[in-house]
Amino acid sequence: MLGLMQSQELLISSLIDFAERHHGDAEIVSRRVEGDLHRTTYKDVARRSRQVANALDRLDLAFSDRVATLAWNGYRHLEMYFGVSGTGRVLHTLNPRLHPDQVVWIANHAEDQVLCFDLSFLPIIKAVHARCTTIKHYIALCDADALPGDTGIPGLQSYEAWMGAQPSTYTWPSFDENSASSMCYTSGTTGNPKAALYSHRSTVLHAFAVALPDSLSLSARECIMPVVPMFHVNAWGLPYAAAMTGAKMVFPGPAMDGKSIYDLIEAEGVLCAAGVPTIWQMMLTHMEANGLRFNTLKRTVIGGSACPPAMISTFNEKYGVEVIHAWGMTEMSPLGTSCILKSKHLAMSAEDQMKVRLKQGRGIFGVDMKIVDGEGRELPWDGKAYGDLLVKGPWIISDYFKGEGGSPLVDGWFPTGDVATIDPDGYMQITDRSKDVIKSGGEWISSIDVENIAMAHPAVAMAACIGMKHPKWDERPIVAVVKKPGAEVTREELIAFYEGKTAKWQIPDDVVFVDAIPLGATGKMMKTRLRDVLKDYKLPTA
Ligand code: AMP
Repeated sequence: MLGLMQSQELLISSLIDFAERHHGDAEIVSRRVEGDLHRTTYKDVARRSRQVANALDRLDLAFSDRVATLAWNGYRHLEMYFGVSGTGRVLHTLNPRLHPDQVVWIANHAEDQVLCFDLSFLPIIKAVHARCTTIKHYIALCDADALPGDTGIPGLQSYEAWMGAQPSTYTWPSFDENSASSMCYTSGTTGNPKAALYSHRSTVLHAFAVALPDSLSLSARECIMPVVPMFHVNAWGLPYAAAMTGAKMVFPGPAMDGKSIYDLIEAEGVLCAAGVPTIWQMMLTHMEANGLRFNTLKRTVIGGSACPPAMISTFNEKYGVEVIHAWGMTEMSPLGTSCILKSKHLAMSAEDQMKVRLKQGRGIFGVDMKIVDGEGRELPWDGKAYGDLLVKGPWIISDYFKGEGGSPLVDGWFPTGDVATIDPDGYMQITDRSKDVIKSGGEWISSIDVENIAMAHPAVAMAACIGMKHPKWDERPIVAVVKKPGAEVTREELIAFYEGKTAKWQIPDDVVFVDAIPLGATGKMMKTRLRDVLKDYKLPTA
């Protein structure tokens, strides 16, 4: 016997409809590329999302066609979030921090049809548009009179002229909730990047989970600032969860330095802000140097890489701000765990509480976790045994876009590539990363890419790139190089060799010449042994 409940597809358009109807006057504040502070409301975002939908329908686009953005966090990007997915097209958020060659590869692989970009990224678009073979429409996210002439980009239009001319009435279509809604490419650690393809259903369920009190705790009384970029994993799903709850949102736009972030938090009465440790490090340095305090901030959600203990205690003890350590992945929409203490922890000493806070947190309903040994046998949740972390749930990928590389699942579970412990209370802690990618300022650097460039130099026989701890950027790459017999190259020449071949922040900070790189039994470089060899090494930039 079936239940007698109404069956309704879970669609992203319902989130903005809800926000308009129930929280129409709640504010969306954005620092713009233009430099000013822009204020709007859910009512206006909803209206303009419908204009975007009408404008998209007038382009020659099919259901599920990809509409790409290259943009900072802001209200126009938010309108694209709802306008694009609401019509049944797929929002593809491109990462502007990638090297232009990677942007081209990804846009072509995704078969993007439309690209909407902030004017800050005009130089990238000028450099790549001729090689983006599928994009038919370029739209600059600006007013008509701000549109630069003579860009060489065919048919370039301003966003305001493009969507502004459209009617603000639109009936969102209903379709299968499992239809694709948005996509985000992971940085490829081996070979090319792969895309996670989110669905309407997964996005709405994930938004419910993000809003829960024991995860990011959103509500209509909240004022939330997503410093995490909307161009990477949908800013941790915050734009959807905020619309679902009617929370006020504050977007920092391109101004990501410590002073700008602090000033915006204070000016707008932000209660909760979410970002990677690097951002908070810059803000705390600014506050320390200027003797500043918070007047409204209550919580920071910190994830993307491990949050250092000193940061947790500075926020807690010095500024009275609760740190919520969170963990997730592009493949997980991204939220997997959040570290909120249980009531039994509150009676513990500050020292013991800190041991819990340092963990990546406990699973939220919807994410099942297990740790396994090398043979795939499940390990106990005793806080000591560590093994490969696997996850499953309705907002975790079942496959990558275009299914490249075969199914990533192992018996229905997604292997995260992280190595972790889980304690008896269900708190997971990452002990290591099984991959060798370098995390710099919250962004990935592929060690293989760095090595490949060095290997292209005529004097280099072998190169191995590893990450070194850095006080500001978390990690920075260095490259260990074996020279070819009789060949000569200096550190400076090799670093200069990277110029123009990769994004500036992906260039290694140092080159260390070694006699040999340790190799394993199958001829693979053993980076763990290389790390041992370089254990006394100090970064010149640290
Ligand atoms: P991404 O797909 O770029 O979001 O990166 C996901 C990876 O970042 C995870 O598999 C972890 O290795 C790492 N990561 C994310 N959050 C944390 C965290 N709180 N602590 C440690 N590592 C993290």
